[in-house]
Amino acid sequence: MSNNADLVIHGGRVVTPDAEFDASIAVRNGKIVALGSADSMPPAAETFDAEGLHILPGAIDVHVHFRDPGYPHKEDWASGTAAAAFGGVTTVFDMPNTIPPTGTAEILAAKHEIASSKAHVDYGLYGLLGEDTIDAVPALCAGGIIGFKCYMGNTFGKIPSPSTGAMLEAFEVVAQTGKRISLHAETNSIMERRETKLRAAGRADPLAHLASRPAVVAIEAVSRAAILAEWTGARIHILHISSADELRPLREAKARGVDITGETGPHYLMLSSDDYAKIGGIIRDTPPVREKHNQEPLRQALMDSTIDLISTDHAPQTPEEKTSNTNWTAS
Ligand SMILES: [Zn+2]
Repeated sequence: MSNNADLVIHGGRVVTPDAEFDASIAVRNGKIVALGSADSMPPAAETFDAEGLHILPGAIDVHVHFRDPGYPHKEDWASGTAAAAFGGVTTVFDMPNTIPPTGTAEILAAKHEIASSKAHVDYGLYGLLGEDTIDAVPALCAGGIIGFKCYMGNTFGKIPSPSTGAMLEAFEVVAQTGKRISLHAETNSIMERRETKLRAAGRADPLAHLASRPAVVAIEAVSRAAILAEWTGARIHILHISSADELRPLREAKARGVDITGETGPHYLMLSSDDYAKIGGIIRDTPPVREKHNQEPLRQALMDSTIDLISTDHAPQTPEEKTSNTNWTAS
């Protein structure tokens, strides 16, 4: 077998978890086979000049909503994964709130078919963990999923949130599989009551969206999920952490040994409620972008590993959908 490389990248600045340095990289059969000075590289079929560029490992985005199947006017697996590749994201984990929701082995198999035929990057699929999908847990695991998604609160697709009783049973079942359960941790009954009152008062503006989901929806949901995880031994992950206040139950759960991880998104770190007037309806997201005083504690939590990672929660809508004041769940 030839020792030649398929590709050598020259002149770039290589970034690893520990260091940053100038180096050339040789690639064969999709794998890095040499890293070092330019004159130490093997001959290559192709060379690429990365002068002035940084070279980083491909990013893994653990939280995307490609709208396929079900919403082809928003996106599909080809366009979504092409965008990911252009952004340096080489693996995506896709959420189950497509049509139909990914809650049975048959629906999962059909989604794998679509994804594997169109995807430009590596991918994983989440299975839906809801009131009526607990019996499907073994079949979903056998069908190939990265983990489960449980909607404690309403978001795009209006998947009903399970009762606490169903969640406990679901956690017991999933704990046996070793799969992690990712949680949309906002308590639905709080949001529903507040939204109903705001609607009755004639409110439907973007700030009403924030008012309907105060941070207590997340504090309550994270605390409750952590208690159920502790009881059952289930491994859980808190999605899109938006508030400083939900960090306390997350920290406390970690401290007492619950297998719990968390993520936030760039919009919670870089935008605040001050931006609603400037940006308008397109800022509406679930959970909502919150008051500015949340940003620094979220950053600190990333630095001290209370929050484990950043995801995009990529979830495209049409401009009309984003700017319509009737859309309360624009994630
Ligand atoms: Zn999401």
